[in-house]
Amino acid sequence: MTKKMSPTCAKCPTVVCSPSIKANEELSLDKAPSFCPMKLMPEVFNEALSEYDKPEVREFARLASIQEAECYERLPDGLRTKLPRIEELIQFSRKCGYKRLGIAHCAGLFKEAGLLTEILENNGFEVVTVQCKTGAVQKERIGIPSDQKIALPDDWETMCNPIAQAMIINKAKVDLAVMLGLCIGHDTLFIKYCDVPLTVIAVKDRVFGHNPLAALYLSESYYRRLGNNID
Ligand code: SF4
Repeated sequence: MTKKMSPTCAKCPTVVCSPSIKANEELSLDKAPSFCPMKLMPEVFNEALSEYDKPEVREFARLASIQEAECYERLPDGLRTKLPRIEELIQFSRKCGYKRLGIAHCAGLFKEAGLLTEILENNGFEVVTVQCKTGAVQKERIGIPSDQKIALPDDWETMCNPIAQAMIINKAKVDLAVMLGLCIGHDTLFIKYCDVPLTVIAVKDRVFGHNPLAALYLSESYYRRLGNNID
């Protein structure tokens, strides 16, 4: 049985979707690889474009694209980046007219949540924050036995409660939810239950200071055990 081909942009040798040509030149997809989504699923693109034709989606996409461009500056010696993500968040929220932001944060990033709240408040936003342990429900409630807890078997351990975090953020009627350091899986549940527009300011990485890409940058040296066998 032949294996069904899947879109695999990450292994593309040509990247013809983002060519180095002038805006008035014709773009050719001839050199796109056979696993290119433009070849495997051509029907998707008209469907996606018709979504951008919805006025509210178009406006959101337009503002996001303007924000993206404003993160760079063109100097005589070339293009440079200029905005850290926190500033990008502030600028994009202003562009969208957002007044009230809701931070869903990990208990392990309590300090960072406080700093972010202060920065956002000082920039004129109302800020709602909810940490993952809200509800104070013990892990046993979701079927975790004492030997699978982080705490000692006899100690209380509150479970992360991303569903409650999302419900609180929804009820608080924020304009934008901001995820700060939720664990893998807990973030998935938060996204599933969150009904308001959502962005991520940081993801959890307990080893690399919440910068999971550090493991990739070391995957050809100290972190070869991750599975990068390139010599
Ligand atoms: S969309 Fe096609 S051309 Fe672009 S990176 Fe993916 S596979 Fe390559």
